[in-house]
Amino acid sequence: MKGASLAERIREQARADAAELGSIGLATVLVGDDPASHVYVSKKHEAALAAGIESIDRRLSAETSQEELVAVLDELNADDAVDGILVQLPLPDQIDAEVVLRAVDPIKDVDGFHPFNAGRLYAGQPTFVPATALGIMVMLEDYGVELTGARAVIVGRSTIVGKPVAHLLLGANATVTICHSRTRELGVETGAADVLVVAIGRPGLVTPDMVKEGAAVVDVGITRTDAGLVGDVAPDVAERAGFLTPVPGGVGPMTIAMLLSNTVKAARYRRELLAFP
Ligand code: NAD
Repeated sequence: MKGASLAERIREQARADAAELGSIGLATVLVGDDPASHVYVSKKHEAALAAGIESIDRRLSAETSQEELVAVLDELNADDAVDGILVQLPLPDQIDAEVVLRAVDPIKDVDGFHPFNAGRLYAGQPTFVPATALGIMVMLEDYGVELTGARAVIVGRSTIVGKPVAHLLLGANATVTICHSRTRELGVETGAADVLVVAIGRPGLVTPDMVKEGAAVVDVGITRTDAGLVGDVAPDVAERAGFLTPVPGGVGPMTIAMLLSNTVKAARYRRELLAFP
């Protein structure tokens, strides 16, 4: 279940939509020197530019205070040329991420991390949904994976991936189980899954004996090793699964594509082409 060509189609659609909507702006805010974060933010900018979305790149020093960061967000909230804002995580220790995520205007919250947008998803009336979770759903749909009545098991309960994908699968009428680090007999749970989403960050934790024959398996994990990027699912699971997303080239490209479509959505909300609740 590859993501690259589907992601390319979504990026192309975002480009067409952006051209139709006129000038759209995406602002990213990065605090500190984390090399992986710098790579992620640069990739988001390249993708935005390629889609004809103007990108505003704010990089702040690792010593930035919470108040200074909130002041930058206030400025971006007030800037009419900015449709979407995202704050790259993780943030340095002196900054409380909860406070910062609440400082983003919900109508510009393209990451979907503001409690207002998270609450909408919880209520089954999604507005902005975190891009990785959305990308997983689009992939499952594109590959024709049946979700109604299916047993879906998610391993990992983060607010970035596990919880939002659980809500989306519930909304698609799957029977959803969320597993995590304290789950007993993980293999028994995963072995019952028709759809298995793994987002933990432990290379190769899911092995073929833990997977039901023919299941659709989505590997969200990304761990950097000397051999390159590796996922949470052992590659030989492919012999047992009906579908398996590769790492790299599976969920990763979808995340960036969905960020662009969330930015287009923000532009529609702000131009009142879509009603923001
Ligand atoms: P996280 O790192 O915040 O939390 C890890 C989760 O895994 C926790 O909920 C924990 O309970 C669970 N867990 C840890 N060990 C476990 C075990 N042995 N058994 C069962 N559950 C266990 O989660 P995250 O931010 O969702 O990141 C998870 C992985 O997904 C990471 O590798 C991250 O790099 C990757 N990720 C990829 C993308 C993408 O675009 N492809 C996006 C976000 C995250």
